[in-house]
Amino acid sequence: MGEIRRVPRAAFKPVGDDIVRQRTLNSRISCSGIALHSGARVTMSLVPAEPDTGIVFVRTDIEGRGARIPARWDHVVCTRLCTTVGNRDGVRVATIEHLMAALAGCGIDNAIVEVNGPEVPVMDGSAAPFVFLVECAGTVEQEAPRRAVRVRKPIAVRDEKGGTASVLPADSFSLDIRIDFDSPVVSRQSLSLGLVNGAFKKELSRARTFGFLHEVEELRAAGLARGGSLDNAVVVSGDTVLNEGGLRYEDEFVRHKALDAVGDLYTAGGPIVGAFQGTCSGHRANNLLLQALFADRNAWSFDVLRSGEPATVIGMGGSWQASRAAAAAPL
Ligand SMILES: [Zn+2]
Repeated sequence: MGEIRRVPRAAFKPVGDDIVRQRTLNSRISCSGIALHSGARVTMSLVPAEPDTGIVFVRTDIEGRGARIPARWDHVVCTRLCTTVGNRDGVRVATIEHLMAALAGCGIDNAIVEVNGPEVPVMDGSAAPFVFLVECAGTVEQEAPRRAVRVRKPIAVRDEKGGTASVLPADSFSLDIRIDFDSPVVSRQSLSLGLVNGAFKKELSRARTFGFLHEVEELRAAGLARGGSLDNAVVVSGDTVLNEGGLRYEDEFVRHKALDAVGDLYTAGGPIVGAFQGTCSGHRANNLLLQALFADRNAWSFDVLRSGEPATVIGMGGSWQASRAAAAAPL
């Protein structure tokens, strides 16, 4: 990969130039951890990338160009339990969604993600460790303008289990998530977040993935979730959260669903300018929504972002303006 061209900020901000620039990492950074489904130990590196690269996974345990997989909606090959991307050579990387959420939340447009196995490490089951990695590496502005997928007309989908997802035109990105589980601990929760200044870190990044004890046992029997433990998931049994420290947010479950949606939607190839709504939705509905959006050429445009637009606020710092409907509010 070539040198990342770094131009002093002032050099590409002449008077009157209000274009938002792409960002990448300032330096390479690595971590290692357990893969949730295989249980294997994997090492992952986030590497700075040229403008217009997008987010691209590279399997370092496989030789040649066949090891590259763009983290895009049209490369999503499986949405069971997690989001998996793959390429024509059948090379895959699973459990990309929490890392993608962190990259979206930190405003990273371009990065190569090297991983030496078929799954991103699960870390603590949230996006916070990946946000920490990006903060340690630092970010750098690049010369090319940042583009966003602007929703031009309402699109809605329904998955096979009845979950629905939709996007509506809006002048910034917002999330409205509703979940309904047959569990006294999770039950019905809803969350509306209007993104004002991008503190994905504060409101969503620490929300962990969750599961029910009986499901964990079924998954283990099927050879899945072998790396799963109370270190990387909230596990619910009956009316009890089994994790010693309890929950990180009172409504951690719906916040994690929001985190998943942020990550899945970032496979659009850029930030989305529009209002997302998901009801009992998951990785499948999120991907169906992007398929339906991009299938209709009149439903979206790929626009250069200008500073001062409400849509430009994704990135580090600031705060989400959050309003949360009461837990157990009727759907
Ligand atoms: Zn998740």
